[in-house]
Amino acid sequence: MSDLNDKPGTSIFSTTKNYLVDILSGFHSACGSFMTALPYLFGKGDLRKEVTEQYPDPISSKTADDLPPRSRGLLFNDIDRCTGCKSCQKICPTDCIQIEVDQRPDSAKVWVSVFDIDFSNCVFCGLCVEVCQPQSITHTRNYERAAYGPKELVASFGRGKITPEQKAKWAAQRERNGEEGIMSP
Ligand code: SF4
Ligand code: SF4
Repeated sequence: MSDLNDKPGTSIFSTTKNYLVDILSGFHSACGSFMTALPYLFGKGDLRKEVTEQYPDPISSKTADDLPPRSRGLLFNDIDRCTGCKSCQKICPTDCIQIEVDQRPDSAKVWVSVFDIDFSNCVFCGLCVEVCQPQSITHTRNYERAAYGPKELVASFGRGKITPEQKAKWAAQRERNGEEGIMSP
């Protein structure tokens, strides 16, 4: 029966030697990494200054004034200007705008009861802003919207749903006024 020590390269001496070489190699690698990281700790050299920032930190963090002029922040819809035309909803590539409208009792404008934007799906492409004729939907300069769940990422700008009684009352009023019901597409 042959012994392991009889085979070249598998003797106790070569195994020990390989083991020590591996340890030295690991130590050398760790020292190299340490020497690379060390200057960053003390900010030595132009390329090695601290680049990370505390967040949130009002002193070092970016504020709205630091943003580029054309940056696209969270969306806002001025519901007083919104005509409920749904152009933004149609062009949105991610279907994150939901709009529901009703007829108002006394004017050609529609009642925008629901206008929800789901920021968990929004890709901030800006298409809705570009297509909005009355410029009611705009990008703000706010980009902070941390939330505990997806439902909290839905922003609602609508006027609120009307009750069936209110709907009937408004319909009667329109009839009295002889107005044609005007609904947006
Ligand atoms: S910015 Fe783009 S993705 Fe976001 S709501 Fe507008 S159209 Fe949709
Ligand atoms: S495109 Fe503008 S006006 Fe039309 S529904 Fe959207 S936000 Fe309102």
